[in-house]
Amino acid sequence: MNIAIDGPAGAGKSTVAQKVAGQLEYVYIDTGAMYRALAWAVHHHQLPISDESTVSELLQKNKVQLVRENGQQHVYWNEIDVTSWIRSTEVSQYASIVASYGSVREQMLVLQRRLATQGNVVMDGRDIGTHVLPDADVKIFLTASIQERAERRWKELLAKGTQTDLAELEKEIEERDRRDMQREVAPLRQAEDAVLVDTTGMTIDQVVDRILQICERTGESTH
Ligand code: C5P
Repeated sequence: MNIAIDGPAGAGKSTVAQKVAGQLEYVYIDTGAMYRALAWAVHHHQLPISDESTVSELLQKNKVQLVRENGQQHVYWNEIDVTSWIRSTEVSQYASIVASYGSVREQMLVLQRRLATQGNVVMDGRDIGTHVLPDADVKIFLTASIQERAERRWKELLAKGTQTDLAELEKEIEERDRRDMQREVAPLRQAEDAVLVDTTGMTIDQVVDRILQICERTGESTH
């Protein structure tokens, strides 16, 4: 069974997807981390972010890998573990820019579909239900109010020791969502057959339970 979880920035997709995967003993695949690794490399090498062919070529000539280590997912850019560097606001903005390039998405699509052949997977992102795994057994569109999403991101960054401005963060998330929704290739949108889960006011465990219920129902109806 494949489970696709899409939604806007800061909706809690990765936390929830990871927990759902853990409960079901499925493989978790964080596709956002792949775009972030590429964005990190563009930033790190100070390459022109606005030049699609430079960015696309960079991906072609290097390797992005998701590796499971001690129960956590790590993302590698070639031999470098970039996991702890990809969550900054600069890399987040860069990620949504590299993700708007068709030639980048084409390459990511191949990598992501290959990863999905590992068996039962929970994959999260923006276009999983609509493009990467259109035949996924369960599709969830996870969202929450912009205020709550910004607050969650703020707390997450604070826990890592990074103090940010909440209003600034809200603006940054809105800008990223707008870019993700308005791009020409595989924009962020709810798949027609996805179940909408609005997580405003819900705890992580409540969201996980809700998704597990949806999966259970799907499992029952297909057997
Ligand atoms: O999910 P996360 O916030 O880590 O994703 C970072 C960025 O990568 C998003 O803002 C989006 O632009 C891009 N992305 C995408 N398609 C995906 C996953 C992420 O365009 N499947």
